[in-house]
Amino acid sequence: MDGADRSARPSWSDRLRRDALAREATAMRRHVRQVQQRDGVFVHVDGRRLVNFSSNDYLGLAQHLDLTAALQECAAYSGVGSTASHLVCGHHREHVRLEELAAEWQKYPRALLFGSGYLANLGVLQALLRDGDLCVQDKLNHACLLDGARFSGADLKRYPHLDLDAAQRQLRTRPDATALIASDGVFSMDGDLAPLPLLALLARSEDALLYIDDAHGVGVIGPYGRGSVAQAGLGVRDVPLQMITLGKALGGYGALVLGTEELIEAIAQRARPYLFTTALPPALAAASCAAIELVRGESWRRLKLSALVKRFRRGAAQLGLPLLDSGTPIQPIVLGENQAALDASIALERAGFLVAAIRPPTVAPGSARLRVTLSAAHEETQIDALLDALEKCCKPRNTAAAG
Ligand SMILES: *Cc1c(COP(=O)(O)O)cnc(C)c1O
Repeated sequence: MDGADRSARPSWSDRLRRDALAREATAMRRHVRQVQQRDGVFVHVDGRRLVNFSSNDYLGLAQHLDLTAALQECAAYSGVGSTASHLVCGHHREHVRLEELAAEWQKYPRALLFGSGYLANLGVLQALLRDGDLCVQDKLNHACLLDGARFSGADLKRYPHLDLDAAQRQLRTRPDATALIASDGVFSMDGDLAPLPLLALLARSEDALLYIDDAHGVGVIGPYGRGSVAQAGLGVRDVPLQMITLGKALGGYGALVLGTEELIEAIAQRARPYLFTTALPPALAAASCAAIELVRGESWRRLKLSALVKRFRRGAAQLGLPLLDSGTPIQPIVLGENQAALDASIALERAGFLVAAIRPPTVAPGSARLRVTLSAAHEETQIDALLDALEKCCKPRNTAAAG
């Protein structure tokens, strides 16, 4: 062993220390909170009981008795683990039941269950795209759509948020390439909707495949809670492929990709995050079946949630808070600097509310925000109390910001 050679290699601990200092300097360090207990919209965090305005449990289903009963019953006879990947021997009847139920609910020919939304996006893009293909995406798409495109080896182009003229120009730079357009249906950090009818038109006119990630739309909007594609009056002919997650409004864990028989079969054969991972525990699939039955069968949660969203927006507008143009339960308050968002989040926590500060790289630099999320499990009085606290914690610094 030659000592000189060893000292030439950069040191891991130097690098990690430098990175940690940079995170501190830019208020980017992340603190993982421990949730000791959860009781509807209340969370016990660091010894305090807070009203939770940060979760994606938009319908309050994560603790619904139908879901926990389905989970427990299934676990009682099938145990916990699925014990293998789908193609080996991990594909249980609850998985099949969930895929069939979801396809029927969404009016899509076929559904394929993935371990999570993250894995689904990696799997879909890697399975369908090859080196030299073109993948066009909205700049505000969720990180896993970007990661999926990178994983696929395709040429990734990102258009400015909602700018379909730019998307069209990007597609036309490579008219001979096999192309896929991917977009969030509801943007996870802004809460606004993708222009789905126009995206479908663009995809058709450019012979590109349209893939919609509806993690935040499913359960919340659309007829029978089908999500943003159905809300736009579209179906499998306009959006041949979409992904819904089970971990947000549906209160469970996992994700389903819905599409034509041909697309789903290709994904099932090729998607590495489907093939080379253990299947979801069957009991979780059973819980998601119960969730879909509730979402499809009962509209009152969606109606209540939509009334709460309107109440929050009305109140926030009266206070001059800088709201974004969102009609969904995602109601961000953009404060700009990382430290401003962190300070506001800490002040809200002191006042009894859990509202996460979202900073880069999750959002663009200079657009750090409080990401307020509403749930059908909230009460009007809790919305009003949050508005009171917001008035004290983040008064707009100037009228321009409030406009
Ligand atoms: C949360 C989210 C995902 C990831 O889903 P998980 O099931 O949490 O892995 C994918 N896309 C979007 C838009 C999301 O918000």
